[in-house]
Amino acid sequence: MKKVSVECRNIRLSYGSTEVLKDVNLEIEPGEFFALLGPSGSGKSTLLRLIAGFNRHQQGELLVDGRDISRQEPWDRNIGMVFQSYALWPHLSVWDNVAFGLVERKVDKTILKAKVGAALELVGLSAFGQRRPNQLSGGQQQRVALARTIVIEPQVLLLDEPLSNLDKTLRVQMRQELLALQRRLGITTVFVTHDKGEAMTTADCMSVLDQGVVQQVGTPAALYDEPVNAFVANFVGTMNTLEGRVRSRQGEGLLLEVEGVGDVSLALRPDMLRACTNQQRLQLNFRPHTLKLATAGSDCDPAFLWIPGTVQACEFMGEYSRYRVRVGTQFLSVDQPHYAGLAKFATGAAVSLGLDPSQIRLFGA
Ligand code: ADP
Repeated sequence: MKKVSVECRNIRLSYGSTEVLKDVNLEIEPGEFFALLGPSGSGKSTLLRLIAGFNRHQQGELLVDGRDISRQEPWDRNIGMVFQSYALWPHLSVWDNVAFGLVERKVDKTILKAKVGAALELVGLSAFGQRRPNQLSGGQQQRVALARTIVIEPQVLLLDEPLSNLDKTLRVQMRQELLALQRRLGITTVFVTHDKGEAMTTADCMSVLDQGVVQQVGTPAALYDEPVNAFVANFVGTMNTLEGRVRSRQGEGLLLEVEGVGDVSLALRPDMLRACTNQQRLQLNFRPHTLKLATAGSDCDPAFLWIPGTVQACEFMGEYSRYRVRVGTQFLSVDQPHYAGLAKFATGAAVSLGLDPSQIRLFGA
């Protein structure tokens, strides 16, 4: 099967007077596992259903392998979709559920038998053909839904929150299975989820949507490390934010007045520095695990920017401890890797909190 690209160009879709997709532009590479991530109501399912052909956009183009399919009916698109509910026929056996699309297409009986057999084998359900869906676990039903979709050999696979009906352990197992299957088939796949963990662990590339607007597209690591705005930064992980104002530029850095902290000198990358002007209001953002904690007054690494704080609380998370530290009038989260025997900072302890300048992201306030 030829791998195809999917491209959305300037897509707009409204329900009545409510615009749900606002100028969506996306390029999904052939064979890519692409995640659409965003909060509930951000337009993910609408976009997925639009690619399937169940929703129609009022403006823009939807290209598969460079060809605009906007006007094609869903059944002419050669796109397979797995629904959140699986939508299996309860009165049909697993075999007949999987065979359904081929029967509809009037596929020759011998070919049908071979294809259904191969699809069931691919999802590890060869022995379950005669069961009814209600005699299967959630994970097995999920696999039937997948087999039923891939048996028609679609060029594009669409998955709408495919793991949301499974318990946590099964979700982790199924997402690995799903990815392995996608890799084996090499099929361009678009996966909708509101779960950042799911998107980050599986996707080659992902897009974060908010209120029908694509906020950022990139690899999971790029979105985590270089978010373009506070929404993306907070959606893909925990982010600390301090508000500041540029007092002056100093050689390769800035003198910032940081709210609740005071004046802070910060060395910056030249591109970040160029974008800053005097008096500009800025947000300094940094992730909890990029901070260091040290006892106040101890020898500190000069490569870090140290500010005084007080421990307010500590949550033990197993792999790490998350401290809540008061800095001036602000509260910051600080993650410290845990290992046996490591002494904890007590509540109320005076500490020095080290910011790694290379890990600070500045956004316009
Ligand atoms: P998500 O999948 O990100 O949760 P949806 O695509 O389901 O979001 O919905 C996006 C927005 O469009 C929501 O505000 C939702 O209420 C609205 N919406 C979805 N379907 C319809 C519809 N058929 N008619 C009117 N509004 C709809």
